Amino acid sequence: MKNKDRVSSVIWQTVRRKKVLSLGIVCAVAGAIAFSLFPPLILGKIIDSLTAGQSVSIGMAGLYFALLALAGLLESLREGGLTLFGQKITHALRSRLMGKMVRLSADTLSHIEPGALVSRFVGDVDAVENLFTSGIVSMFADACKIISILAVVWFQNRGLALILVLLLPFLFWFTRHVQKNMLAAQLDNRRAVSRAAGHVPESLHNIRTIHTLGKEAYMEQRYDDYIEDSYRAMEKTNFYDAIYSPVILILNAVVVAAVMLLSVSGNARVLTLFGMSAGTAVAVINYISQIFTPVESLGMEIQAIQSAVAGVRRINEFLSQSEPAPRKPVSLPASLPAGQPQVELRNVAFGYDDHTVLQSICLQVQAGEQVTLAGRTGAGKSTVFKLLLGLYAPQSGSVLIEGVPAADIADQDRRALFGYVEQRFHQVPGTVRDQITLYDPAISDQAVRTAAKLAGLSDTIESLPQGYDTPCTPELFSQGQWQLLSIARAAAANPRILLLDEITANLDAETENAVLQALRRVSADRTVISISHRTGAQTGRVIPIEPAH
Ligand code: ATP
Ligand code: MG
Repeated sequence: MKNKDRVSSVIWQTVRRKKVLSLGIVCAVAGAIAFSLFPPLILGKIIDSLTAGQSVSIGMAGLYFALLALAGLLESLREGGLTLFGQKITHALRSRLMGKMVRLSADTLSHIEPGALVSRFVGDVDAVENLFTSGIVSMFADACKIISILAVVWFQNRGLALILVLLLPFLFWFTRHVQKNMLAAQLDNRRAVSRAAGHVPESLHNIRTIHTLGKEAYMEQRYDDYIEDSYRAMEKTNFYDAIYSPVILILNAVVVAAVMLLSVSGNARVLTLFGMSAGTAVAVINYISQIFTPVESLGMEIQAIQSAVAGVRRINEFLSQSEPAPRKPVSLPASLPAGQPQVELRNVAFGYDDHTVLQSICLQVQAGEQVTLAGRTGAGKSTVFKLLLGLYAPQSGSVLIEGVPAADIADQDRRALFGYVEQRFHQVPGTVRDQITLYDPAISDQAVRTAAKLAGLSDTIESLPQGYDTPCTPELFSQGQWQLLSIARAAAANPRILLLDEITANLDAETENAVLQALRRVSADRTVISISHRTGAQTGRVIPIEPAH
């Protein structure tokens, strides 16, 4: 794996780019710890002065409040800084992932399950963000805080420091135990809730089957079970939630009481460990309550780090996928030499993985010619189109467009060269105009209108409330109209070659007729390669595509 293809390199780059922010976070972390240690000591001094009958200076009281305020301020700065840093990391990681995704070959991507890919972008990146907002830095800060409190307490009251050292492992174990059980219960609950939520549309979708098979009681019982599972998990969460705080408060009180009792013991040896002034007593009570919070946070931070590590591993795996070697784009010749075919497959063999689809395929199409690829379903007709579009490279032989290997054609030349109409229209987010231009600013409004007119769809579009600016939704057009829109999309860039894949399948005779007429208008003066099973829809020379086996 190249070093730049790792989460750690994205983080490091972000640190380097956001130097002030990173340095600010480090200062805020150190400052918040340091300043939170002083107020209890000052409070102790104030109380000692008061119990000795001395007056307390305003400066001392002011310092106490100022340090408290400063520690609070630095803690908020740390949280704010970490949130901002987490967002920068998320941004950088998502951009890197998208950059990687669009560079990967269609072949590699077709092996990745879409849901798994989306969860790299969403869940895994969020887990890495948590590493910063509530993981590694906070854990470091909390560990430092615990150690510094222990150190300060050690100088104030050795006995209490020893008790805390003995107590902390138990406290940590208890906190982790509660958190792990709560998390497991929350996950169970989430699963049960999503099963219950999914059950309603599922029942609705299959209502006829349920009625036909008499499964009403069964479906009701299943829903009941899901809800029951959810409540059981919720009760477990509530139980742990309810016991944690009282246990911590009782523990806090017990430690304070024990230390106070020991500090007034008459035994001289006990007093060497626990003896202290009233002021020190107030200070150590303060420290005892301060030490419980970071221990509680440590548990959650470990959790965040564990899930972030798994996220980092999955993102690294994705980033390390090998990309196709960058090819130097080749420009198409200004004009085709006489007699040279515009499209040519020379003895092409191709397969997906070890599944051979095409073998010894040869075909030649002259400029302006109209041909139809015919063959059994699964023979590899659509695959031929993918090779022509340069989405895949042949395993042997060559695929030449105007004499240039299809995969080497520069991206900007491709749209001017090919118009590709698929069997199913793939809608892009945006308006009707965006469906036709595919966001290409080079396609003028006039070209959009001409393309829509050629496709026979301009009247329909103009009758829409916002015309070409109408936002597209799946219900906006009928299936036949979507097909006409895909013809407009193919024609908009005025391409030299049209590739039409089964565009009249699934249409009724009348709509098919409208689509074929639109095609005839669009096909004039162009090379057209179509795929069609139906002899009625086949035009020009028919080229058979035989399956490899
Ligand atoms: P139809 O007439 O049904 O559309 P076709 O001739 O267009 O069929 P292709 O879509 O080219 O057939 O598919 C040829 C073979 O390649 C099929 O066995 C198909 O399962 C396989 N295939 C197609 N695309 C992929 C892919 N991305 N990954 C793996 N195998 C694929
Ligand atoms: Mg096909």
